[in-house]
Amino acid sequence: MQLFAQVIIDISHQRIDHPFTYRIPETLREKVRIGDVVQVPFGKGNSLRRAYVLHITDNADVSSDKIKEIHSVLSVRESDTASVVTGRQIALAAWMQEQYGSTMASALKCVVTGERRGKGKEEKEIVLLLSEEEAKEALSLYEKKHQVARARLIRELIEAPRQPYSIITSKLHIPPATLRALKEQGVIEVRSFSRLRDPVSFTGASYALKTLSAAQQSIVDHVIADFDAGISSTSLIHGITGSGKTEVYISIIGKIVERKKSAIMLIPEIALTYQTLLRFYARFGNRVSVVNSSLSEAEKRDQFERALKREIDVIIGPRSALFTPFPNIGAILIDEEHETSYKNEQMPKYHAREVTMQLAKMHGAVVVLGSATPSVTSFDRARSGEYKLYTLQERPTGGSLAKVRIADMRRELQDGNRAILSRALSERIADRLAKKEQVMLFLNRRGYAAFVSCRECGYVAKCPHCEVALSHHRKKGKDVLRCHYCGYETAMMKICPDCGSKYIAGFRAGTEQIETFLREAYPSAKILRMDADTTAKKGEYERILSSFAAEEADILVGTQMIVKGHDFPKVTLVGVLLADLSLYAGDYTGAEKTFDLLTQAAGRAGRGGQEGEVIIQTYQPENYAIVHAAEQDYEGFYEEEIEYRRLLLYPPASHMLSVQFFSRSEDACLTRAGEVRQILEEEKTFSDLILIGPAAAGIVKIKDTYRYALYLKDAKYDTLVQCRKLIEEKLPPASGKEVLMQYDFDPVYAF
Ligand code: ADP
Ligand code: ZN
Ligand code: ZN
Repeated sequence: MQLFAQVIIDISHQRIDHPFTYRIPETLREKVRIGDVVQVPFGKGNSLRRAYVLHITDNADVSSDKIKEIHSVLSVRESDTASVVTGRQIALAAWMQEQYGSTMASALKCVVTGERRGKGKEEKEIVLLLSEEEAKEALSLYEKKHQVARARLIRELIEAPRQPYSIITSKLHIPPATLRALKEQGVIEVRSFSRLRDPVSFTGASYALKTLSAAQQSIVDHVIADFDAGISSTSLIHGITGSGKTEVYISIIGKIVERKKSAIMLIPEIALTYQTLLRFYARFGNRVSVVNSSLSEAEKRDQFERALKREIDVIIGPRSALFTPFPNIGAILIDEEHETSYKNEQMPKYHAREVTMQLAKMHGAVVVLGSATPSVTSFDRARSGEYKLYTLQERPTGGSLAKVRIADMRRELQDGNRAILSRALSERIADRLAKKEQVMLFLNRRGYAAFVSCRECGYVAKCPHCEVALSHHRKKGKDVLRCHYCGYETAMMKICPDCGSKYIAGFRAGTEQIETFLREAYPSAKILRMDADTTAKKGEYERILSSFAAEEADILVGTQMIVKGHDFPKVTLVGVLLADLSLYAGDYTGAEKTFDLLTQAAGRAGRGGQEGEVIIQTYQPENYAIVHAAEQDYEGFYEEEIEYRRLLLYPPASHMLSVQFFSRSEDACLTRAGEVRQILEEEKTFSDLILIGPAAAGIVKIKDTYRYALYLKDAKYDTLVQCRKLIEEKLPPASGKEVLMQYDFDPVYAF
């Protein structure tokens, strides 16, 4: 058998998509691995070029007499750090392509940072060329001659022999003529260098590090012990907001840096606040940097360059910070690990947590995950022993959790209150307005929520097969209810099948209606609204938040945007207007997302020392996500949620693959999905595979494009990978209308 390698010759972005096949000679068989840097003959003259190994395969797609041979494998010593890093990135991209089913080009675009074009900012510095003794002699000479400017400069340079040019001229007011004269005498030199931009400047950032509590210290010790023992372990810190997780991260990173390794700290964009960054900059000074979406491409590349050159040890940022090209990663930490923003919504639809595991394995790094409401997946892995679990239960700064109360909206209706606000909530709003305290009202509205429920008894129309809420659609002038997973359809009911009430309908509440309602109910209150509409303009998001923080308004109404990451000490009341909306978004993660949002919302009340209060309005007061959120009992929630996942084989109890079809023609979508389904049905090797659908997506049509999905479930992730390969292999070219296909493994977003 012959072995072949697919390589890419040039890593400049344009050519990524064009791999070449080479034969691996017998002598190199044991040596060549994915990600290796090799030398290959290329072009007419067969000049040797550096190339990266993408794949190794036993069948070549080119006729074999045309294939050239790999010349040699470059050892780490022969190739420079940058190539080694690139090689590793390529190996990671190859892994992502395999796991998530994208093209190699899009996987590489995610991972490989590419070469920096253009230079950093030109800067000048002044360097003293004399020894200290000579300089002191010169100083006394200048003083004697009353050459004040020269004396001043020399005095500064004796303190620090290299100084930024701008400081010398603007702060010390040394005239250019003086500098010129001293340069000619060989006393100083002006050097230019190109400086990589540092995106934030925290000069003089001060934040006193805390002495860790025994519980905090024990986590740090265990993680570092794993690292020192060469165990690439994953630890999950389950700790309420304010329990000192960030302090633990900083301490772990400190110890990793002492060991001459780098660390990546992932924080969701929305939680990358000044306060948080300040703490990292205070500890790591100019050895830390940040990448976020407000940086330009060039600035981002500068940070990557600094990482590659080891000018920094720590990078902080959202999902994409994972691809910082550190030569030597010792730890990867993920704060708020349950956040869905860690999942990429474009191909490859990777989850940062899973890529982290792979990257950590490659580098022998330790992984630390932290959250107040861990994802069901991570907590399940911790329970099964795959992750190490640590708990932080106390707030070092004291302060208790807010008191949470549930308002049963069915009762409100029965008692004749048909308003948006329950009596309990409106009384308390009036009370807070009178006391000049602030109120946050949060409309739980994630994506679309077209489910139908009974206002009188709380009944929700669900799919009999999938246990997710059916959503309301108009179809040929008729109202129908449909399941997003299996396509089950039923006519919209006129009366509640459980209690016979006629108050059965969809929810159509928006923040704007609520604002209008509040203005009428509380005419003297100042109200701010924050949602996708009011924040469409750049800078508005920050403006609304800072206006509320400056107490220019009494009430802030908004969507989940207002829930995360912000502390307003004057807020003593938080109202959740319709807790039910996210429960029934039509996918299996509804309860998990609701629990998380309610916990976060509860965390907003009473941050300033005064006791906080939270009112959760719901038609489902007995729903376990709501009950446990009100009790702030994560484990109780987890126990019930994992049962549901096990019963219906949703992740993490099983793995799930959503094969998605996009086309301008609905028929073409369905035909293609049918073909895929048939391929999988005919294949008998996957005996436990479950096939569901095809079904229309939550929003069937976006911008004239129809969207359908087929769902596959299997206990083994690898089976789903094999299915994906089988589809790619067997699916005939589309006849007629074009259909775009995408894969989403273990989806966390409703499609
Ligand atoms: P989390 O990341 O879990 O929300 P933080 O690390 O931000 O928690 O800590 C919350 C607050 O408690 C911060 O003000 C922090 O300075 C303080 N804190 C954390 N650990 C300690 C400690 N060991 N001693 C005193 N204060 C602490
Ligand atoms: Zn009913
Ligand atoms: Zn269904």
